[in-house]
Amino acid sequence: MNARNPETTTALFALTSQQSPTPRARRGGWSWGPVEGAKLRVLSLGAGIQSTTLALMAAQGEIGPMPDCAIFADTGDESTPTLETVAWLSSGNVLPFPIHRVSAGRKISDDIRLRATEGPGGSRRFASAPFFTGNGGRGRRQCTREFKIEPIEKEQRRLAGYLPRQIMPKGTVEVWIGISLDEVVRAGAAFARWAVHRHPLLEKRMTRQDCVAWLRRHDYPVPEKSACIFCPNRTDFEWRRLKERDPASFAAAVEIDALCRQAPGMRHQEFVHASRRPLAEIDFSSAEDRGQGMLDICEAGCGL
Ligand code: SF4
Repeated sequence: MNARNPETTTALFALTSQQSPTPRARRGGWSWGPVEGAKLRVLSLGAGIQSTTLALMAAQGEIGPMPDCAIFADTGDESTPTLETVAWLSSGNVLPFPIHRVSAGRKISDDIRLRATEGPGGSRRFASAPFFTGNGGRGRRQCTREFKIEPIEKEQRRLAGYLPRQIMPKGTVEVWIGISLDEVVRAGAAFARWAVHRHPLLEKRMTRQDCVAWLRRHDYPVPEKSACIFCPNRTDFEWRRLKERDPASFAAAVEIDALCRQAPGMRHQEFVHASRRPLAEIDFSSAEDRGQGMLDICEAGCGL
């Protein structure tokens, strides 16, 4: 662990005690401030409000040292506004460092489609998403790890100059995560032993609203939240925004929602909406903004 100001940090959040949603242990570290001796400094870019602000603040020299690059994990099911934000950040003179785009080589929606067509005796393994189940529970969140964390770690390893499975010393890679003060419960140490998470927005005591204000002050566009188009971790307000601003993505979410209930041999039906009703049947016309929502999202590396 590399904490420069542990007392302040402990008052803000208990990084080491946070439970991972998956069995994988957090074996890496976290740092309050830059990691001394890091070979690679990487910004984990989800292209939502927080990580976009982080990238632009680095570009403006307000947070440093400058990252060597950003890495964006494309699940293949990102919304159009998120992809537009990545394209804009990658263009021209917006950022002084490159954005590396990585993927798992397939889409989460491909898994869901295949699962819907495979017979009950099928042996193919699928990554599950945290859909709402008919028995009142949630599906396991394997998607984050397979479609975001693992491709990002693979790229970090490659950029740091290490072969797969080659031993990397602790603290080789400093990873910036765009978690703001209002999301502090999502902050955590890195999973990989050789990585160290840093949370610059927490160091600056910035909330999501502070990020929005900073973007507006600098005449930057305010991005939409980033998440897979069918991600169930959405408030009704966010579903309504998706429906109004990106109808094609919403239509795709409706299709995936229906496919979730077609998989043969499932013990419980799955739904993308918390009401456990088909997405196509839900009236979002009166959905109001009741706060931030989507705390359990992937951006910035699940706790990304
Ligand atoms: S945004 Fe949602 S569906 Fe996509 S990887 Fe993250 S938890 Fe899974």
